Amino acid sequence: DVVTGVLALQGDVREHLVALAAAGAVARPVRLPDELAEVDGLVLPGGESTTISRLAVLFGLMEPLRARVRAGMPVYGTCAGMILLADRILDPRSGQETVGGIDMIVRRNAFGRQNDSFEAAVDVKGVVGGPVHGVFIRAPWVESVGAGAEVVAEHDGHIVAVRQGNALATSFHPELTGDHRLHGLFVAMTRECRAADAL
Ligand code: GLN
Repeated sequence: DVVTGVLALQGDVREHLVALAAAGAVARPVRLPDELAEVDGLVLPGGESTTISRLAVLFGLMEPLRARVRAGMPVYGTCAGMILLADRILDPRSGQETVGGIDMIVRRNAFGRQNDSFEAAVDVKGVVGGPVHGVFIRAPWVESVGAGAEVVAEHDGHIVAVRQGNALATSFHPELTGDHRLHGLFVAMTRECRAADAL
């Protein structure tokens, strides 16, 4: 079966590993370039995007990550992971780099202090069976997307999920709910990609 990794430098790694396994994939933590080379797809978890990006540089993972994303490896970023997949951050902290891969501009902590955390039903294009339960924790939103990126969900007039080719990003955290449909979508993307590579 497909092997999916979770970037395991900081953040809610364990929850993603559980969700990926529940969605039918083999799931492994990824901390080293060698481990990255062995996965068919990768999740970038929620956590703190500046910390994850600094650790990725420190662990020698930033360039290999960029190279694999450029080469079309399926990736799914939640919250901090969404920020890491953005080609541009509106308000980056110093030293904060991104992996990139989605032609979008994100605003960190966009939903504001008074709303550090909230939950809402979110309709996601490509996810069947009704809205998902969106858990937003100091979540970013997407200010704008470029021509290549497709908005797949909005909340309150703000873009909260985007897909560009094999890259998917959500502002919210499906790994914290028992609903594995978004991980299922990501595992399906990864299977399709591997099947196409094998042709
Ligand atoms: N606010 C965090 C950041 O900017 C993201 C929060 C999260 O992943 N839950 O990285």
